Amino acid sequence: MDYDVIVVGAATTGAVAAKKLASQGFKVLLLDAKPKNRIGDKACGDAIGEEDLKKAGVTLPAEVVRERILGADLVSPDGKTVFRIQGYGYTVDRVGLGSALVDEAESAGAKFIDNFHVDAPIIKDGRVIGVKGSDEITARVVVDASGNKTKLRGALPDEWGIEKTVEKKDAVAAYRVIMEDMKPAIEHGYLRLIFDQNTSPGGYIWLFPEGNLSNVGLGVTMIGNYPNPKIATENWIKGKYEGKIVAGSGDTVPTRRPFATMVGNGIVLAGDAAATVNPVTGGGIGSGMLSAKFAAEAVAKALSQADLPGINELWSYNVTYMREYGAKQAGLDVFRHFLIKLSNDDISFEMSSGIMDEKTVTQAAVTGEVNINLRKEVEIMIRGLKRPSILLKLRQMASDVKTAMEIYSAYPDGFDGFWSWRKRADSFFASLPY
Ligand SMILES: Cc1cc2nc3c(=O)[nH]c(=O)nc-3n(C[C@H](O)[C@H](O)[C@H](O)COP(=O)(O)OP(=O)(O)OC[C@H]3O[C@@H](n4cnc5c(N)ncnc54)[C@H](O)[C@@H]3O)c2cc1C
Repeated sequence: MDYDVIVVGAATTGAVAAKKLASQGFKVLLLDAKPKNRIGDKACGDAIGEEDLKKAGVTLPAEVVRERILGADLVSPDGKTVFRIQGYGYTVDRVGLGSALVDEAESAGAKFIDNFHVDAPIIKDGRVIGVKGSDEITARVVVDASGNKTKLRGALPDEWGIEKTVEKKDAVAAYRVIMEDMKPAIEHGYLRLIFDQNTSPGGYIWLFPEGNLSNVGLGVTMIGNYPNPKIATENWIKGKYEGKIVAGSGDTVPTRRPFATMVGNGIVLAGDAAATVNPVTGGGIGSGMLSAKFAAEAVAKALSQADLPGINELWSYNVTYMREYGAKQAGLDVFRHFLIKLSNDDISFEMSSGIMDEKTVTQAAVTGEVNINLRKEVEIMIRGLKRPSILLKLRQMASDVKTAMEIYSAYPDGFDGFWSWRKRADSFFASLPY
């Protein structure tokens, strides 16, 4: 074999995985289709939570930080209720971050080749033994960190149980512009998220401060005749904000529960390639880095146990990920299914009535659990306010979130229990009434 590990994709997930493996002495090759100075150049809100970075063991280089974030404002569709959620984070220069993380991987000993487009995995005798592009390169394990449009996932054998595609209903199409000296200026230190099911159905509009720049965009769930996010963004900005647009681009985000498994013989998937994004916020940088950390730990252990690690040796990656983040992600996916179906009036009602409040949202963000305010619920009923059906749906959703988290927390310890577990998880999600 040419390498111990080939990591495909050198963005935030891949570079972190490569650094962690190379620093343990493994012979690592990091590949990316882009030139080095464009790694990280992608449509993004550029926001990262501090807690996520800590959990992934990643320190941001100071020079890539554009703004220190203290929290987020969630704005109801009618504009009358604003939840201020406290939570530290950063907005960053994504291209600067991309180069810095690749530099760190190289300093740790990984070899980096840019402008290398991987076309497919090399599969021999029931295992992945490398990748093909302009050349064929072999490795004991391949880490697929090549994002949502990965060329590897779809070519893997069905019997490993890895989902090959992300259905449109489980994805968001998003677009954003970067504006210089935007007027009126948005408050520094706070991310602003606005819910509006007409402009951004199933998603939200965001305004993120980045020093003298502002990152403004929106996401729409790709269900039915969904609006073009570029046109929706430009129309929404028109008449509200002015400034010089210095960049604009869009992409899709896999906003679903985690893939049922992220390992095969000789391969693991991480980051967007494994759908590790937070289903509600669409944030995937931190969770991708976290998956890179868990994947690197499992790969390092597997390489010390077997010359050519297979599903069984690599399985601990699935178990760690599901228990540490996947269960929360599954709970948030239930919440996402629920949110998509709400009208603007429903959301404004829930936020203004107090049945959902800052505490509920903060808890959902931290743990994934949704605890609706039952005291408020009773109060609302006594006051004779309408919408009993919303209250019932909220109760049902909170209970479904709990069940989803329980299923993912009980992830099987080995591949033996996988198919029966998967049947249970799939049928639970298929049965959701919203
Ligand atoms: C508009 C928008 C806004 C977003 N805002 C935020 C936000 O504010 N905060 C947040 O946390 N997340 C956000 N996200 C999600 C976030 O961008 C992704 O979850 C994250 O970038 C995933 O990182 P990754 O390294 O797994 O994949 P990617 O960033 O997609 O990187 C994949 C890498 O693989 C390379 N590659 C792909 N195919 C090949 C191939 N065949 N051969 C070789 N190399 C290949 C690519 O060049 C790329 O460098 C947003 C997404 C969008 C679209």
